[in-house]
Amino acid sequence: MIVGILGAGQLARMIALAGYPLGLEFIFLDPSADACANPLGEHLQGDYDDPLLLAQLAEHADVVTYEFENVPADVAEFLSTHTQVHPSPKALAVAQDRLIEKTFFHDLGIPTPVYAPVDSLEKLQHIMPDIGYPAILKSRTQGYDGKGQSVLKSAADLGAAWDILEGVPAIVEAFVTFEREVSIIAVRNVSGAVAYYPLSENYHRGGILRLSESKVHDPMQAQAEAYILRLMEALDYVGVLALELFEVDGQLIANEFAPRVHNSGHWTIEGAETSQFENHLRAILDWPLGSTAATGHAAMVNFIGGLPITEEVLAFPDVHLHLYNKAPRKGRKVAHATLHTVNAGQLQATLKKLAALADQVDDS
Ligand code: AMP
Repeated sequence: MIVGILGAGQLARMIALAGYPLGLEFIFLDPSADACANPLGEHLQGDYDDPLLLAQLAEHADVVTYEFENVPADVAEFLSTHTQVHPSPKALAVAQDRLIEKTFFHDLGIPTPVYAPVDSLEKLQHIMPDIGYPAILKSRTQGYDGKGQSVLKSAADLGAAWDILEGVPAIVEAFVTFEREVSIIAVRNVSGAVAYYPLSENYHRGGILRLSESKVHDPMQAQAEAYILRLMEALDYVGVLALELFEVDGQLIANEFAPRVHNSGHWTIEGAETSQFENHLRAILDWPLGSTAATGHAAMVNFIGGLPITEEVLAFPDVHLHLYNKAPRKGRKVAHATLHTVNAGQLQATLKKLAALADQVDDS
């Protein structure tokens, strides 16, 4: 069985690593000659909309999936007329545009921050009294890891924030003073079976995820599951889906969803019975889903911009290092480490030291 993946970065790499024990083979389409998943399968090097390469991918792969959501919609449509594609092009289209995404949440009764579309500075100035300060201005498309975003503290910030966007359509949303950021990762297979992972509690800096901790028996688990189930059913979703949420006064507010395996679920490799990567493959191949139960306490730390010294990380008890074989570059995720233990008391002390190591090499 051959799985095609659009993109050959670390997410594709970890999907392939999970697929090898199941006898799966992989074919990647990625423009980069040294994309880090390339050694794990056949690599078609070129643009995502190269018709010849897409035809090759569709011909060779039994099923195609993605490691990122900014795949051109017509590419997903083209592939889906030639082979199986999961998740569906519709899920991609909704996730690609923050306005469509927020409207989709709203229509499903999933709370969001107050928001409004903005396509000119005048519109922004006009709408701000309704939104209130502070607020965040975000490009509607192509934004990830906080890119294309500005915090608006007062009317004096509007002009500069609008200029940064260079005229692209945007969305302005109220700044949520959340108590916590959490995400829920769920998986649904072709036959409609669904499983949920325990919530992840997430810490961002500069819009980039730094640390995630698994939260078994979290009081917000049921609400998060109800919201993500609505999304999966509305999209007839197949694969792993991640929903990022803010917690305010015991209520969850949706920020965004990712139609793919997610950084906040990397702890599932060691910390759950079945990792998000293996379950994504099981889902798109319509195999039975594996248990999503946590096997202890787990936390994950990202290494961004710089690599840790391997021996220093491995010297910590209960820590597992994942190097992506990517050259370090400013702001680039190059590795993560997972701390997995059955002893909750031990977790926090080691986690602090691990996070300090990540901060030392972090250049963002
Ligand atoms: P995003 O690219 O939309 O996922 O935003 C990246 C991060 O910026 C989020 O994980 C939050 O930490 C922060 N953020 C984004 N939108 C808001 C908001 N409306 N209120 C508060 N923080 C936000």
